[in-house]
Amino acid sequence: LNERLTGVFDRITGRGALSEKDVSEAMREVRVALLEADVALPVVKDFIAFATEKATGEEVIRSVRPADQVIKIVYDGLVEMLGGEEPTPLNLNATPPAVLLMAGLQGSGKTTTSAKLALRLTKFDRKKVMMASLDTRRPAAMEQLAQLGKQIEVAVLPIVAGESAVQITRRALTSAKLQGFDVLILDTAGRITLDEGLMNEVAEVAAIATPVETILVADSLTGQDAVRTAKAFHERLPLTGLILTRADGDGRGGAMLSMRAVTGLPIKYMGSGEKVDALEVFDARRVAGRILGQGDIVALVEKAATELDQSKAEAMAKKLAKGQFDLNDLAAQLQQMKKMGGLQGIMGMLPGVAKMKAQMAEQNIDDRMILRQEAIISSMTKAERKKPDLLNASRKKRVASGAGVEVQDINRLLKQHRQMADMVKSLSKGGRGNLQKMAAM
Ligand code: GDP
Ligand code: MG
Repeated sequence: LNERLTGVFDRITGRGALSEKDVSEAMREVRVALLEADVALPVVKDFIAFATEKATGEEVIRSVRPADQVIKIVYDGLVEMLGGEEPTPLNLNATPPAVLLMAGLQGSGKTTTSAKLALRLTKFDRKKVMMASLDTRRPAAMEQLAQLGKQIEVAVLPIVAGESAVQITRRALTSAKLQGFDVLILDTAGRITLDEGLMNEVAEVAAIATPVETILVADSLTGQDAVRTAKAFHERLPLTGLILTRADGDGRGGAMLSMRAVTGLPIKYMGSGEKVDALEVFDARRVAGRILGQGDIVALVEKAATELDQSKAEAMAKKLAKGQFDLNDLAAQLQQMKKMGGLQGIMGMLPGVAKMKAQMAEQNIDDRMILRQEAIISSMTKAERKKPDLLNASRKKRVASGAGVEVQDINRLLKQHRQMADMVKSLSKGGRGNLQKMAAM
């Protein structure tokens, strides 16, 4: 995608905003990339609309290629659509046993994933876990779970021939409660395709077991089919999350995005192999990178982000180098400070300003102060902001009444500005490195 976008943007240089035309051309390429990654068409459409809105009018930063900038916007959008950087943890908030119900088509990986989850909960969370197979039609499936349980040393409800799924569920609940298990994982039967019988059975089990998590296990390699499956299951079952298996073979990630978008459900884990420990917490960033077909997309995006910051810092540094630090610059800095954890935090990071920080604490400068100062600066005329010396007594009175503050507040602001301007000067004597450090802050 990067190469494609580079082509689109080669001719845009210099400053300005990303125009609607540029963005729509870029989005055509993004669209192709998403379709190639096997993202469902309606999801592609929604995403393009969303990303177009974000990108249009975005200011072009000189030192960043517009292509990289758009990739960053698209990448951030994908991460957001995939559920954000922070994975949604498994919910175990229930009177024990917390029941996890695993649903899905046959062969999607339910039994394997049940064991993977059991292992994870036992090993990392020190939970006492029991598994039970509700797959009454295939004795081999029950045996499979029993074997896996033996392998990972997790309890499995003993098999009783001739019971129905509902009967097994009741027995499992009683047994897990009596024996003090924290978690009960119910591995349900699957069909090759969706059918009413299957849905009714799972729904009935869900009604009896009242699971804290009803997880759809889906094979990410089945692409669009998996999306249809997810939709159908979600209509019948109160699903709480997804686990997508065979992520190890899915180089495109499109099904993951589609399923998340269509169901709105968090993807909790990804299966990454046949072994019992091949279960990973879902990582939206990695999947977004796959979708964009860019192995090192994260590095690229980080580079773009740093360059964006750097170019802003450089612009500021240039002004400062000329000894220019007027009240407009102060207002810009105040904005930035608000973003970065307030005045005290910023001041604490600057080298050699401990004294000033103490002074400010003395003068009661806090973050409400930032708001007040912004109000003061915005009540000044352009000329006053550029040349604070213009502010005589009557002008100060006017500004004070405009900002709803006292004249002494104006004086305090001007004093602070003078201090900062002095600091700028002394830092500029200390060399460009210092200056950039300061500007970056
Ligand atoms: P079920 O019918 O839904 O219970 O599916 P199974 O758990 O029996 O899994 C079917 C097959 O898929 C087995 O051979 C598993 O080893 C394999 N499998 C399950 N999860 C994964 C995965 O994440 N990656 C790979 N490569 N294979 C998997
Ligand atoms: Mg199974």
